[in-house]
Amino acid sequence: MRSNLVANQQGLPTESEIASSHTALLAMTVVYLPLLYSIARGVAMKWVTGIISGIGDQAMKIFKTDHFVLPLPDGHRFPVSKYALLRQRVEAASLVPPEDLIDAPAARDEEIARAHTAEYLRRVQNGELTEKELRRIGFPWSPQMVERSRRSSGATIAAARAALAEGAQRAVNLAGGTHHAFADHGEGYCVFNDAAIAARAVQAEGLAQRVVIIDCDVHQGNGTAKIFEHDPSVFTFSIHGAKNFPFHKETSDLDVALIDGADDATYLAALREALPVVLDRAQADLAIYLAGADPYFDDAFGRMKLTKPGLLKRDRFVLESCRAVSLPVAITMAGGYAKHPEDVADIHFQTVKLAAEMKWDRNRASDA
Ligand SMILES: [Zn+2]
Repeated sequence: MRSNLVANQQGLPTESEIASSHTALLAMTVVYLPLLYSIARGVAMKWVTGIISGIGDQAMKIFKTDHFVLPLPDGHRFPVSKYALLRQRVEAASLVPPEDLIDAPAARDEEIARAHTAEYLRRVQNGELTEKELRRIGFPWSPQMVERSRRSSGATIAAARAALAEGAQRAVNLAGGTHHAFADHGEGYCVFNDAAIAARAVQAEGLAQRVVIIDCDVHQGNGTAKIFEHDPSVFTFSIHGAKNFPFHKETSDLDVALIDGADDATYLAALREALPVVLDRAQADLAIYLAGADPYFDDAFGRMKLTKPGLLKRDRFVLESCRAVSLPVAITMAGGYAKHPEDVADIHFQTVKLAAEMKWDRNRASDA
């Protein structure tokens, strides 16, 4: 602009200089006005959205790991495709802004070692597990298997931190729930126990003193129960099939064992009776929720008869119960082995969608 306003010899611009500066001003207005308008509109939209969703409310963060592929032989029964399917569904539905769908960090050695023995961690890392130990886990060893297990645990740590962040109240790991991992061994498709690692991480970081683990996967959270057996700062709750894997159950702080063939009504009645007791006894600062898709009637390993609407009612009851006592929740997906992977993705997706759409502002608890 200044170059168009070079003064003439008397120190004043000539008529042609004034005309050309007006032309330039007009051109800049045409170019920049729409840009200024769109910025102002964006600010206004954010402001309005902020008012609608409640002051202090913060966007939900979702952590993904599906691009850290777990290499499995052909015909392996673990439905690894469900993770990419789920992430695609979450993206397509725009449940959160793209910047809040985040690549999970890998859990670090010192984080894993708070829940696992140094010896087990070292042997997993170096590929020194025996054939028998690998059979018990159910996966062949590979460096990618180790990385994937670290990312899945890292996603639960990140979700726990995000749920505890001011105003957020909930966050999601699109994987996790590897509750059959013990301090010194893995089993049942579980290498590292993500919930145990995350609970100990937020405690070590001073973000939470007491944690409750709400395990609604159809299989008992045996590894979690054992890891926290003598730790009163983490309350373990598991609702599962009495006769299903694992056939030797550990003792959680509260176990609810259901009969084979349990339906929506049976399951929800048991959950409604147990969960208030759990939350009261736990007095926790953070909940880690394992929203297993495997109580579904068409699950290959589930032995229960829950429907998709029944599983959604379960999720709603758990999340609303936590919200009612201002308890932040880190949500993990856990198991799901339905004959059609799309069904597993549907069930996990409805959990994530519910968490994203519920209103979680801090002040709501007092009037709930
Ligand atoms: Zn399971």
